[in-house]
Amino acid sequence: MFNLDELIYDCANTFFCRLIKPNLSFTSVHELTEEEINILINHFNIKGIILDVDDTLRYNMEEISTGTLKWVDMLASKLKVVVVSNGIDKKVESLLNRRKINYISMALKPFRKNFLKACNMIGLNPKEVAVVGDDLIADIYGGNRNDMFTIWISKKKIIT
Ligand SMILES: [Mg+2]
Repeated sequence: MFNLDELIYDCANTFFCRLIKPNLSFTSVHELTEEEINILINHFNIKGIILDVDDTLRYNMEEISTGTLKWVDMLASKLKVVVVSNGIDKKVESLLNRRKINYISMALKPFRKNFLKACNMIGLNPKEVAVVGDDLIADIYGGNRNDMFTIWISKKKIIT
């Protein structure tokens, strides 16, 4: 059935995809497997990850699933992780605090300030950090302009 929201979403993504290029794209964080992470570490010298929350770790403002939290734990066992969100959520903050993962809320991505603050928190150069997020402007453009490796979670396969 015809769905206007989906059509607008696809058109906007197709348009921005031509302007803003991520280094990699997946339809879900779960496609970023341990094997893929090892490739990032060994071939791209990635030592840290900046993660987005909404539409990356969770959808429709629901709670982050147990499976996704396990994925975050796997990631944190291999890389330094910091979560940078344009939103604010106390429950997400406490889930991350329990894991000793820093959380920057109300980050105003794609502005540079909090990308660089996140790198300082994990003691890495932006070139050693990958940004993982769903928003082509906030996350991918924001990461690209800071010289970071960028991984787009597109939710859907987009043909470019
Ligand atoms: Mg997002």
